[in-house]
Amino acid sequence: MLDQNQLRDSLLAIDGQGYKAYKDLRGIYRFTNFTLHIDHVQGDPFAAPSRLRVEVAQTQASYPPATYANTSRASGLCTYLASQFAHHCQRVRAKRGSGTSGLIEIDTPSQEIIERTCIQVDNTRVEARFAVGLPAQGRRVLGRQAAELLLEDIPAIVAASLSYAQNDGDEIERYVQVAEDADVLRTQLVAHGLVAFVAEDSILPRRSGVDDRPLVDDSVPFKTPASLCVEITLPNAGPVSGMGVPAGVTLIAGGGFHGKSTLLAALERGVYNHIPGDGRELVVCDPNAVKIRAEDGRRVAGVDISPFIDNLPYGRDTHLFSTDNASGSTSQAANIIEALAAGAQTLLIDEDTAATNFMIREHRMQLLVAEEREPITPLIDRIRALYTDHGISTVLVIGGSGEYFDVADTVIVMDEYIAQEMTAKAKAIAAEHPTQRQSESATAFDPPPLRIPLPQSLDPSRGRREVNVRTRGLHIVLFGEETIDLSAIEQLVDASQTRALSAAMLYAREHYLDGKRSLREILDLVMRDIAEHGLDVLDRRLVGEHAVFRRFELAATLNRLRSLQVAGDR
Ligand code: ADP
Ligand code: MG
Repeated sequence: MLDQNQLRDSLLAIDGQGYKAYKDLRGIYRFTNFTLHIDHVQGDPFAAPSRLRVEVAQTQASYPPATYANTSRASGLCTYLASQFAHHCQRVRAKRGSGTSGLIEIDTPSQEIIERTCIQVDNTRVEARFAVGLPAQGRRVLGRQAAELLLEDIPAIVAASLSYAQNDGDEIERYVQVAEDADVLRTQLVAHGLVAFVAEDSILPRRSGVDDRPLVDDSVPFKTPASLCVEITLPNAGPVSGMGVPAGVTLIAGGGFHGKSTLLAALERGVYNHIPGDGRELVVCDPNAVKIRAEDGRRVAGVDISPFIDNLPYGRDTHLFSTDNASGSTSQAANIIEALAAGAQTLLIDEDTAATNFMIREHRMQLLVAEEREPITPLIDRIRALYTDHGISTVLVIGGSGEYFDVADTVIVMDEYIAQEMTAKAKAIAAEHPTQRQSESATAFDPPPLRIPLPQSLDPSRGRREVNVRTRGLHIVLFGEETIDLSAIEQLVDASQTRALSAAMLYAREHYLDGKRSLREILDLVMRDIAEHGLDVLDRRLVGEHAVFRRFELAATLNRLRSLQVAGDR
């Protein structure tokens, strides 16, 4: 292994040479308190930046073992360290020439605590992975500036952010405890017969549609309706009380602008843990909860949507339904069936993003359009069987139709941001004003059949490149010639998840798509490999910008690939 002085000599020696001279720097260097790995050197100052890693031995870094004793705690610690590292990058970073010259950047967490590849801690070392723009003037190496960056700035960032002694031990403890409590709370849901929990005094509203931080001024803290109050004891916070959302069918009703969607959005995000101060630290949801919405225009490949849609005009088959341009109702039906096929246990639906005709068909319309002429069996006629026959709960925001009172187990009414339980009243109203609509579900709801994706329908090549897969921000995956639009996947929260999903698509294709395995099996296998070997299993280059995703988001990505074909479909 070379040392830092040899790195300095090499950098000064290539000063003024063509940019390619940087390539020879690839390797491992011993610094006073850490080792620096230069894994990938960018081809020119305008290309994607170079990838570097530092490893600090745990004997140097000295984190108390309790701070990374289990995966929950470790994810809290790593999230904290990534923010610290990012903060110190900001402080020292300076423009040092053309293109990305001088850039030092690490994947930066936002409000969620999720496992990322950028920081890893175990009992041997702390590892940080980050990107660096090696300095150039035009395309000439700026060796002196590079030496400053690699031999002064990076050691300063490492010293300031990666050792326990330099960090705020109390703040680390808060991150670690919050992550552990949220995970424990989530595992407690089933035992309490719940699909979600919202702790008293949680802050649910966000600053804006594009700013996920808590609304600070004028935000009304969450109050628990007495009848839904549940107390759960957590390892760090001790006993906490809050609203338990029971399994079954739950309606969130209330006037417009009274906080219904805000509550549901908090539940959606409750599949993730949140950083201290977020306001949703103790808002958790069934990890297998999936947000369902209408998504007209999406492609659907060989999905059995017949439980919801049958008898399409001209005898079109809905047992193996494919379209390049789904309607509001067919897309929502496909979204539900795909989620169930991937293992969803709870469905979260907001009327704001649902197709009206999928949700309900009321009496007058039943009189005008006979049942035989209407392909749709609305959700209201399936929602109970989903729970009683298959154990699938639904939480539904609905302010516009009291018809759902008949099928609900629990009715929560939001009134000026305050939740109230009004099941009895809703049931009394339903009894007093019986619905005139006829139930339309003649058949049982069978579990969705397994779909087998065909390997040749996933083609990552583009032009002369055998593999051309990239992402653009949170919502776009470019897969070969195809563009996958993930903007309707509302539980996808971080661009690093999107990058990891694109890698997972390739991984699944390489290892498990064989034209025989079902999508369900493929999801099982990919998620098992990640659980056993970590996210690095998806990409052997040790990248620092991947974050964990759920099987549902992987299914959603595959299902939105426009070229996807499944066995049996033409
Ligand atoms: P609804 O779905 O009932 O129409 P929303 O959930 O969209 O209402 O909320 C309407 C507005 O009120 C949003 O701007 C939201 O940020 C804000 N809001 C929601 N809950 C709270 C709260 N607890 N405190 C303060 N503002 C809130
Ligand atoms: Mg709303």
